[in-house]
Amino acid sequence: MPLYSVKMRASLDGTHISGAERIVDAADVSDVCAAMSRRALAHPKGCPDTVNVTVREVDPDAIVRVPFLPWDAAECADEAEARETVLGYIRACTPHAEAAWDLVTSVRNMRGAVLFDAATGERLEPDQARGVRVTNMDAVRIADDDHAVAERTPAKDRVTEARVLAAKVAHHPAVLAEVCISDDPDYTTGYVSTKDIGYVRIPNMKPLGSEIGGRVFIVDAEQLEGLITYLEETPVLVGGDE
Ligand code: AMP
Repeated sequence: MPLYSVKMRASLDGTHISGAERIVDAADVSDVCAAMSRRALAHPKGCPDTVNVTVREVDPDAIVRVPFLPWDAAECADEAEARETVLGYIRACTPHAEAAWDLVTSVRNMRGAVLFDAATGERLEPDQARGVRVTNMDAVRIADDDHAVAERTPAKDRVTEARVLAAKVAHHPAVLAEVCISDDPDYTTGYVSTKDIGYVRIPNMKPLGSEIGGRVFIVDAEQLEGLITYLEETPVLVGGDE
């Protein structure tokens, strides 16, 4: 049976509100489209005036399979502790760790992520208002650990989505680390991930109610070739018989 990439984008007055990604069997396309539309219209950031749901067939030969990153969780009582914890992980990748933290806590309403040059601290994404959006990805099956929440259902949860994205991103040789803070004002847990430490959930990345939110990919600029195409276009299934 053919597989389809299903993408949702919701915006208000041209400003990004939310998005979602799946790769599903033809039989699941209509349920997933319905679930994504419902979700777009019920986002805590507000009610969109435009929702795009796109369905596109995926070439099965182009699919790359990668494992989930191992999962862990840090304990942080507040934003200051969260900052120190994240910096402790990313200092191994860049001498500009503080600048990377400042970016992830200052960008707003981007559809995608910042590409942060580990060596220089410069931004490398071609469109800084939009960033680079990772698309064409999904989980194959439930992962084998206690944050194993990937189900092939329309209502895939937030942690699984983040773990799928983090696995796709970390798999590319140019990516040294990722830092994410959700832009949902009701959700204060973020994460840091690297190939070595895996995916580490970080509580209290921002105060409850804050509209801060963004993603930074810390990259080795010398290995950048093909990164944006991989992130945006290569279909990746996470988990399963990799
Ligand atoms: P979220 O975890 O969905 O609240 O997203 C947090 C931030 O990550 C957003 O503000 C965007 O800047 C960025 N982001 C969300 N989805 C993606 C994606 N698919 N690819 C790259 N960056 C994303």
